[in-house]
Amino acid sequence: MNILDGKKASKHLINQIKSEVTESKIIPPKMGIILVGNNPASETYVKAKIKACKESGILEELIRFEDTITEEELISKIQEINNDESFNGLIVQIPLPKHITANNIINTISPDKDIDGFHPYNFGKMALGQKSFRPATAYGICKLLQFYQIETKGKHCVVIGRSNIVGKPISIMLGNDFTIGNATVTLTHIETPRELLIKQTQMADIIIVAVGIKDFLTSDMVKDGVIIIDVGINKLENGKIVGDVDYENVSKKCSWITPVPGGVGPMTISGLMINTLISWKIKNNLPI
Ligand code: NAD
Repeated sequence: MNILDGKKASKHLINQIKSEVTESKIIPPKMGIILVGNNPASETYVKAKIKACKESGILEELIRFEDTITEEELISKIQEINNDESFNGLIVQIPLPKHITANNIINTISPDKDIDGFHPYNFGKMALGQKSFRPATAYGICKLLQFYQIETKGKHCVVIGRSNIVGKPISIMLGNDFTIGNATVTLTHIETPRELLIKQTQMADIIIVAVGIKDFLTSDMVKDGVIIIDVGINKLENGKIVGDVDYENVSKKCSWITPVPGGVGPMTISGLMINTLISWKIKNNLPI
């Protein structure tokens, strides 16, 4: 069993970004991060994103609001950043308070600063196989597979979970005619009958699990030599973080597997950094 080390791959990508930014001798890229409220998980993710910006030579500005902010006020701030030339990218950390409709916020971010790749314009272009900002977690997973030179072409890939931020985009990207793609993809979700899900996972060469349930994928569900990408983040009562895979038993059958933590998490952040670099390159007419 080999480890798909997201920390190592991410470090490599971040060093690459840092060199490109430093060698350019122009004003570095700048990322805006909007954080509403004090959700502890969001605080942790934002901290990690700021750290990665510093390591990549990307400037960052954290804009915080109380969770009493209205949707109109938030939209107005996003429009201000959309029109501010100094920002190359903007993320609004989710989840947002219940009185704010996330889709209205996502749709307000200018597509050319949408480094999370959630805007319908970018998502649509990605689905059509065109160049666009790709959803950061799905993009990070592709970069991880690329780093370890794992061939996806011709492979049978099963994705579990169909969220707009992970399952849906990664299933489209792996099925597309992309460098990391050309796989035969089965997208499964909560309405997939259990027997059908197990039949599919037992045949799969690559399984991507993004469900959010500890020990969801067990060793009887996979074949020998399978490659597993565990996206799940589940916090146990003792504070330990685990993924969606029964790691101890499943890893014995795997050829490659991501650890949790240290697998997909750091790659999501690198995906975000690469998208910011791309946005900055486009603005400065640099080759992508
Ligand atoms: P979500 O939480 O929005 O939805 C869960 C998905 O799982 C749904 O699409 C649902 O259909 C599917 N599902 C639930 N029960 C199922 C079942 N019994 N069989 C098959 N499918 C089932 O999805 P999400 O936002 O992609 O998050 C999933 C997990 O990934 C969470 O633990 C989240 O914290 C984690 N996550 C991690 C990262 C990262 O960077 N590591 C990024 C995003 C999400």
